[in-house]
Amino acid sequence: MLPYGRQSISAEDIEAVAEILRGDWLTTGPAVTAFEAAVGDLAGGHRAVSTTSGTSALHTAYAGIGLGPGDEVVTTPMTFVATASTASILGATIVFADVEEDTALLDPAAVEPLVTERTKVVAAVDYAGHPADYSALQPLADRVGALTLADAAHSIGGTSAGRPIGDLADATTFSFFPTKNLTTGEGGAAVFKDDALARRAHEFHFIGLVRDPARFRLPDEGPWHQEVHELGLNYRLTDIACALGLAQLRRLEEFKRRRAEIVARYNAAFAEVAGVRTPVQRAGVDPVWHLYPLRVLEGRRREIFEKMRADGIGVQVNYIPVYWHPVYADAGYRRGLCPNAEAFYAEELSLPLFPDLTDSQVDQVVESVVRALR
Ligand SMILES: *Cc1c(COP(=O)(O)O)cnc(C)c1O
Repeated sequence: MLPYGRQSISAEDIEAVAEILRGDWLTTGPAVTAFEAAVGDLAGGHRAVSTTSGTSALHTAYAGIGLGPGDEVVTTPMTFVATASTASILGATIVFADVEEDTALLDPAAVEPLVTERTKVVAAVDYAGHPADYSALQPLADRVGALTLADAAHSIGGTSAGRPIGDLADATTFSFFPTKNLTTGEGGAAVFKDDALARRAHEFHFIGLVRDPARFRLPDEGPWHQEVHELGLNYRLTDIACALGLAQLRRLEEFKRRRAEIVARYNAAFAEVAGVRTPVQRAGVDPVWHLYPLRVLEGRRREIFEKMRADGIGVQVNYIPVYWHPVYADAGYRRGLCPNAEAFYAEELSLPLFPDLTDSQVDQVVESVVRALR
């Protein structure tokens, strides 16, 4: 089965990991420091905290922001559940705002009436790798003293109006799962414009340990001392993973170029095909395409999905609207809440897209779509 996404691992990637295994530091060593510096540089020169996954990056970001009971997070339902569930787990209330009909990105016009004094975070998702409209979302958050968060699990390496992903929102999170734009196996990172939030997030992902003597509340314990002021978890990424991440970062521009090439090949092939719609791209954005979300019209998405799977093409659907998950339905969220997201879900079909996909495999996918539609 041709997968919808997969990692690309080079001999250099393998050697970078092997070198760590021969060395002194398997975790909390120099590769972690170097990877965080490189991710921070790529993301606009802000501090990055590496974490064990994109999910833990979101949890860490929300914890760094100080999210808790009584706070609201306005977010998109067109995402992986973790964008919302990590805020829910901290006790916050999720307020779903609808997406734009064409891009499936959080719609600032839908967000506007939902932002109140209770709003602590406006969390957008760079769906498929296309940056959300942060220039419209930021003033809505600023008006009530809330922060913007970019779930950039799909979009590391992209830009909008010349500014890199990581510099577009107050906080940005990444995932380095194997299907994403670059991988560390499991892994993620959270980036913050405000250093105080970054420090709090760093402590959260490090069991809450405070190790700076200047901040000790028990100053006379001795040289071994470290102490906890706020509860945290161990979400530390290893040097093994970070060495892979550093090697992958060197290949990101090449991954981006190849992903764009494949997207262009799909777009050209489907331009004249009836019964499908191709993804749109706003002016001024330079995405790293993570997904190729084809839209299958006339209620035929499931039929095309099944025919293509039978053809050996590992198509996927991204995503069921978050509030359709039983955990949110049980909490009282009703179907119909976000009609654009639901309509998008009904049509969406993610075609294979990853750097090592060959042109002939792309053509095979196109032929499978066309045959299935006949
Ligand atoms: C993959 C993903 C996550 C979670 O990342 P993991 O590394 O799988 O935990 C969060 N949000 C979005 C939009 C994702 O695609």
